[in-house]
Amino acid sequence: MNLYEFQAKQLFKQYGIPIPRGVAALSGREAADEAAKLGGAAVIKAQVHAGGRGKAGLVRLVGNPAEAEQAAREIIGQTYRGELVSRVLVEEKLSVAQEFYLSVTMDWSKGLPVVLASSQGGVDIEELAKKENGIVMRSLDNLELSYYKAVEILSDAGLKNKVLTGAARVLTRIVRLFREAEALTVEINPLVLTADGVLIAADAKVTLDDEALERHPVGWELAQEDAGDDFARRAREIGVSYVQLDEGGEIGIIAGGAGLAMATMDAVAQQGGRPVNFLDTGGGISRDRMAAALRLVLANNGVKGVVINIFGGINNCLTVAQGITDVVDSDHPAAEIVVKTRGHSQEEAWSLLAKYDMGVVKCGTTVEAVRMLLRSIQKNSCCGGRT
Ligand code: GDP
Ligand code: MN
Repeated sequence: MNLYEFQAKQLFKQYGIPIPRGVAALSGREAADEAAKLGGAAVIKAQVHAGGRGKAGLVRLVGNPAEAEQAAREIIGQTYRGELVSRVLVEEKLSVAQEFYLSVTMDWSKGLPVVLASSQGGVDIEELAKKENGIVMRSLDNLELSYYKAVEILSDAGLKNKVLTGAARVLTRIVRLFREAEALTVEINPLVLTADGVLIAADAKVTLDDEALERHPVGWELAQEDAGDDFARRAREIGVSYVQLDEGGEIGIIAGGAGLAMATMDAVAQQGGRPVNFLDTGGGISRDRMAAALRLVLANNGVKGVVINIFGGINNCLTVAQGITDVVDSDHPAAEIVVKTRGHSQEEAWSLLAKYDMGVVKCGTTVEAVRMLLRSIQKNSCCGGRT
């Protein structure tokens, strides 16, 4: 099991391996707030289990909170190697003087751990391996690496002076982490030397051994956080109740309250539609969480329409409408959307929604909202869909 970079960095921190200041964010606005706390300039990094994000444009350097918001909005909701990006890591921007590569992984041909080190980090390990003297490789006879041995390896890789001793300390720590977590890989690429002469892990990759997880409380917790149905996990992150229903369903459901969600499901079924999910926002949904909830439902394969049915009691209709229109603005979803919302700030909500190409039910019933949605799906499927 691969950890997310932000999780791997939590482990690094526990092991005294220096990491940049930063925090994970679920939306453009959260990213902007975090960038502001870091002084404006930041790195925005997609949190996915695969590597190679830099080349794919999923690591962005930004100069201010507005740019951070823009970058995060562009990244969140993208699919990278089959994985939907629901989170970005917002970190302080480092001024990079040099990049190194350090890792410890299992060499299955020998059944021993092996340390890999290079003074030309920041590129793929595969590319480094092609270069002559690109990479130094040492098997470890056991799971120990002394500081002196670490210095020897890194000296062979061309490191010198303070950088050599600093990197040797980092290397002994990743070997300790590797051993104690019974990891399969711990990799830092790049380990950055900043213009101020500080060594810091700009990236972090940790692969844990699924077989060994239960022996390791930390890994176990991270695995739980990570485990199971992707949708259920993301719903937990967003803070909404979510149940996956029909594999072949085509109508997504978002409602404020479990009772209303049940009633909406019934109405969909009664009108001949197939609900794909049950999502209850609960009370007091924020704009960002509303947007994240809608993205989650839209991420279901085969969703042709979403009915959003929220009463503005504890929830605010305008906040709901803003969350919805944020998604339409940035993702341009192909699915039809019908919103039935009424209550607190309803006029403002209705006038915002009226600017968009979606159905709005003001004082009508849930059945009317569902009919409206099914009608526009039908209209689109016969005319080749929206352009
Ligand atoms: P990966 O492509 O998925 O391995 O993602 P990385 O975390 O390694 O980021 C890709 C590249 O972005 C790194 O190799 C660095 O060269 C660069 N990078 C990451 N963080 C910073 C930073 O704080 N400052 C600068 N200048 N470059 C960075
Ligand atoms: Mn990297």
